[in-house]
Amino acid sequence: MTEPSTSPVTPVLTKRWLSPNSWTLHTYEQLEGYTALRKALKAHPDQLIELVKASGLRGRGGAGFPAGVKWSFMPKDPVKPHYLVINADEGEPGTCKDIPLMMADPHSLIEGCIIASYAMRANHCMIYVRGEALHPMRRLTHAVREAYAAGYLGKNILDSGFDLDIVVHAGAGAYICGEETALLDSLEGKRGQPRLKPPFPAAAGLYACPTTVNNVETIASVPFIVNGGSDWFREMGSEKSPGPKIYSISGHVEKPGQYEAPMGTTLRQLLELAGGMKDGIPLKFWTPGGSSTPLFTAEHLDVPLDFEGAAEAGSMLGTTAVQVFNETVSVPWAVMKWTQFYEHESCGKCTPCREGTYWLAQVLERMVDGRGSEEDIDTLLDVCDNIFGRSFCALGDGAVSPITSGIKYFREEFLALCDQNKSAAELVGAAR
Ligand code: NAD
Ligand code: SF4
Repeated sequence: MTEPSTSPVTPVLTKRWLSPNSWTLHTYEQLEGYTALRKALKAHPDQLIELVKASGLRGRGGAGFPAGVKWSFMPKDPVKPHYLVINADEGEPGTCKDIPLMMADPHSLIEGCIIASYAMRANHCMIYVRGEALHPMRRLTHAVREAYAAGYLGKNILDSGFDLDIVVHAGAGAYICGEETALLDSLEGKRGQPRLKPPFPAAAGLYACPTTVNNVETIASVPFIVNGGSDWFREMGSEKSPGPKIYSISGHVEKPGQYEAPMGTTLRQLLELAGGMKDGIPLKFWTPGGSSTPLFTAEHLDVPLDFEGAAEAGSMLGTTAVQVFNETVSVPWAVMKWTQFYEHESCGKCTPCREGTYWLAQVLERMVDGRGSEEDIDTLLDVCDNIFGRSFCALGDGAVSPITSGIKYFREEFLALCDQNKSAAELVGAAR
């Protein structure tokens, strides 16, 4: 695991990651672990919801919905059981923050789950882990067992009268099960496909009961907010996107890995943390938040990577999965690879995405192979137009983002494939 940054903020979420046996209860307790829970259990649940609202914590799964506001949608007087569901189905290409967090510091997630469940009057919490992530799954399961044995889970937690059970559940490796309602269907034992929203999960979620679905990093932030307070949390990041963030940096940098920095950190600053571009070969394009977010170029080095900054520059913050590509990479080829991923992962429920991603992949494969024509660029944009905003869930919109932004910034590369009838590999080779 890459050493998390100690600059420009004192690490928060990653502060225990390099401690020996950081994943054990013993180490966690030595480093202030479960102190926030003791404090939280003495507060009224509504005070905790107000605290999280005041902190401005926004969902770290990609969409940035205010966490405290989401919690406040849960009914105050439970008639049906309440559920907290943790989305640990980290699947967005390039995203690698929740899995390292669960590997290095699983108890911070568990402590966050207990506090959040107490605040939302939930006595059941499910952690839905991506199917392929076997090792994190084992580590988390072990940490949950440790927490039960120490009295942090189960009946009458720390003599508070509050009961909570946590179940760690393995998905089966479908990207769509990261979509919250598909995840809920999957948990119920059905085929994972998105549900119509509204109703949102707070009204009818798991087993049609009030449910909150939160991302791992969001919930792991909660114990720090309880201990540090909302003003402390707001000292980091920007006014509308406060707090620290784990940026996962992959691709052509010297030191790929996870880097914790305040919200709003720019790629220029992140590249410094990651040791710069690999072998000094210049940057060509990058994703600010995984492949579902429109591409950026070297022009965007100083865009603040928070929800507002990314949106103002024409993209999205997404999962802060920063994938960095240098000049040796063909944009149409990279776009084709992402499109093949979306074609494979489309759940098939709605026609624009199911048929559209198939056609996009066909056209791009032809172009990248040097068998395309200029008309194919219009065809791509036309199909994208018929998917974007017309699909049932965010996967469809995400699938077109690399294509439309790739053509916007690198149209000449797509044209060159058609004009010269050469494959992307031949053209990149010629340009080198
Ligand atoms: P969304 O904006 O529809 O919803 C975000 C959250 O806010 C959900 O929990 C939703 O229930 C809640 N919400 C939104 N409006 C609400 C309302 N009016 N009332 C009550 N609750 C409301 O976004 P989404 O479709 O859940 O997620 C899309 C994001 O997922 C993208 O930004 C993408 O970056 C991200 N994503 C992440 C991964 C990953 O691996 N972490 C993978 C794919 C996509
Ligand atoms: Fe399924 Fe794609 Fe439609 Fe989402 S947009 S419901 S993934 S077919």
